[in-house]
Amino acid sequence: MLFSGGQDSATCLAWALSEFERVETVGFSYGQRHLVELDCRDRLIDGMKTIQPGWRDKIGERHTLDIPTLGELSDTALTREMAIEMGEDGLPNTFVPGRNLLFLTFAAALAYRRGIRHIVGGMCETDFSGYPDCRDVTIKALNVALNLGIARNYELHTPLMWRDKAATWQLAEQLGGKALVDLIVEQSHTCYLGERGARHAWGFGCGECPACQLRAKGWHEYAGRKDKPAQT
Ligand code: ZN
Repeated sequence: MLFSGGQDSATCLAWALSEFERVETVGFSYGQRHLVELDCRDRLIDGMKTIQPGWRDKIGERHTLDIPTLGELSDTALTREMAIEMGEDGLPNTFVPGRNLLFLTFAAALAYRRGIRHIVGGMCETDFSGYPDCRDVTIKALNVALNLGIARNYELHTPLMWRDKAATWQLAEQLGGKALVDLIVEQSHTCYLGERGARHAWGFGCGECPACQLRAKGWHEYAGRKDKPAQT
């Protein structure tokens, strides 16, 4: 599974552990500003081992692939010291063109070598920044291209595709209860600026960048839903 150390991929890791007998993680280093995300991965994986009986034994190899070329090619606010703003094409300048296509293709190449057929990613087009490589149709098209081009019967899984951020917190609660929610709040990293100074109810981050705002909004909606009595 594609594991960056953010909220979405941490939730996906828990989902993968509940679905599969063995889970290997792969992270990418491509010159991103928020490298701190990669440091969160080990703490999340170690924490995950204690959430459900059996998860400890399911967690396999941790891979990190260096693809600095992606950072060299892209002139974006994720890979350069520049302010985050909207571009003329309606996409924020945090968009790294082709990123998920490359990640999934590298993951498929790694999976080929490891004898793995199922690939899990945290892409989501419900509550997102409009990145075209997070759309369901993009992932499905790439799945077809990978199966043809690598001659394997891969299945790409995107359990968050139709969930908003509040529903992603709910999924974490379903999979691992409060312990998992607490682990993700405490140890996952979403902030584009890589800040871990201030601790908010929803975790660490600058609180201002689009990623922090989305995470905060989702958290407050999730907390609000919890406070309401169940509908009968
Ligand atoms: Zn932030």
